[in-house]
Amino acid sequence: MTDALAEALAAALGPGAVLTDPADRARYEQGWRYGKGVARCVVRPRSTAEIAAALRLCREHGARVIAQGANTGLVAASTPDPSGTMVVLSLDRHDRTIEVDRAGRSVLADGGVRLSQLNAALAPHGLWFPVDLGADPQIGGMVATNTGGTRLLRYGDVRKNLLGLEVVLGDGRVLSLLHALRKNNTGLDARQLFTGTAGLFGVVSRAVLQVAPLPQQRAAALVACRDGAAVLGLLQALEDGLGELLEAFEVIGESALRPVFVHHPELRAPFRELPPYAVLVGLATALPAGLLDLDAVLQARLQAHLEAAGPAVPDAVFGDGAEFWAIRHRVSESLRAEGESLAFDVGLPRAALPAFTAAVAELLRASFPGVRLCDYGHWGDGGTHLVLVLGGPGGPEGAAAGTAAALQERVYELAVRGFGGSFSAEHGVGPHNQRSYDLYTDPVVKDLCRALSWCCDPARLLGTARLW
Ligand SMILES: Cc1cc2nc3c(=O)[nH]c(=O)nc-3n(C[C@H](O)[C@H](O)[C@H](O)COP(=O)(O)OP(=O)(O)OC[C@H]3O[C@@H](n4cnc5c(N)ncnc54)[C@H](O)[C@@H]3O)c2cc1C
Repeated sequence: MTDALAEALAAALGPGAVLTDPADRARYEQGWRYGKGVARCVVRPRSTAEIAAALRLCREHGARVIAQGANTGLVAASTPDPSGTMVVLSLDRHDRTIEVDRAGRSVLADGGVRLSQLNAALAPHGLWFPVDLGADPQIGGMVATNTGGTRLLRYGDVRKNLLGLEVVLGDGRVLSLLHALRKNNTGLDARQLFTGTAGLFGVVSRAVLQVAPLPQQRAAALVACRDGAAVLGLLQALEDGLGELLEAFEVIGESALRPVFVHHPELRAPFRELPPYAVLVGLATALPAGLLDLDAVLQARLQAHLEAAGPAVPDAVFGDGAEFWAIRHRVSESLRAEGESLAFDVGLPRAALPAFTAAVAELLRASFPGVRLCDYGHWGDGGTHLVLVLGGPGGPEGAAAGTAAALQERVYELAVRGFGGSFSAEHGVGPHNQRSYDLYTDPVVKDLCRALSWCCDPARLLGTARLW
């Protein structure tokens, strides 16, 4: 059966732009961890004008649209719903522009440019975009989710590094805020409407990003800690003693670390016995080794802390940062291989991280026996990723959807109401955590979002998350 919208899109954008065959659509319909739907078709514009044309046609045909980047999002917000009526607007082919402004220390990039592609283009200029994570997202997707990542402690999230933006609104109007200004105090900062709002107010077509000098040196260590309190003590000692040299402070609980070596036997376990917590400490500087010996600085600081902390921080291994990061970046996928699981991305006041983790462990012991708690995360930013392994050895048989829903409710309640935290530290909002958004978001914020959506997307075509 022919589809008039798919034909109109193909006529406007060229035949290669539209995918209707189920086999071609499949990878756009399945999310990385959550989210699976059916698309009416996939449209792949190559420019801002083509995005606008596609949105206008979808509006004429009354079709809802989901903007999609690299589809690495973790809240099921990048895939269509199961109705078969939504159009996936993928920015895959909108990736040709990367313009580096050396004097401005910024870069203009198309929304479909991948993070790795951006950094490859920046490297010859001695620059990089320092929002760093274990996936390879697109710039538009990073803006729409306000990506955090492993170096937020030092460089901040996307929001902090976003200078300018171009967005195509739901009705096809193009809003250009494509300046590269660091100071611009002229009223409403409209860029923020589109940052972290899951593409609900418009499709990010281009962005200007502040970039950073590539570090000349890096030093890394994995530090063993006896418990969460020791982890926080280490964090404080490093921040006090090393200031802005500290670039990463990634914590991996024993239960999250062990599966990495099971599923990746090529990786070497750094400690003879895995400690309750291993902390990946990363330092970086743009100073050359002749001016500052970063390895020596890290070793001296850690040695002093190990002596002061005694058995609470029993060991540290120094070495190739790449090896430690390979371990850190394999955690998420290794836990996925452990069996059916439920992942959380919770933000907390840093001091509350140990007590929150203990409270979740107690909740599981008392009410969900057999569910395994694996925790890791960006403790330097108060972010923790709890993965609760439901299936696999020791887990409840074919864990029912009800178990997952009950767990989700109890853990988010603990985080938000019990410890003053956030139900989404960095992954954003989508169907996966919609219920928590509905429960915990101030009604006035929802009213504001509703009003904004009338202005930006009057026909309510965009997205699957609901912010009002
Ligand atoms: C292994 C792994 C590790 C990860 N680690 C981290 C981490 O450390 N920190 C972190 O913050 N995230 C992390 N993520 C999550 C994910 O990579 C980020 O949320 C990323 O920014 C999503 O970008 P994307 O291009 O894949 O967007 P998608 O997944 O394609 O889309 C995500 C959302 O953005 C919207 N969107 C996409 N493109 C556009 C656009 N051009 N305009 C408007 N809306 C758009 C979508 O509709 C959807 O709502 C990780 C993911 C994986 C798989």
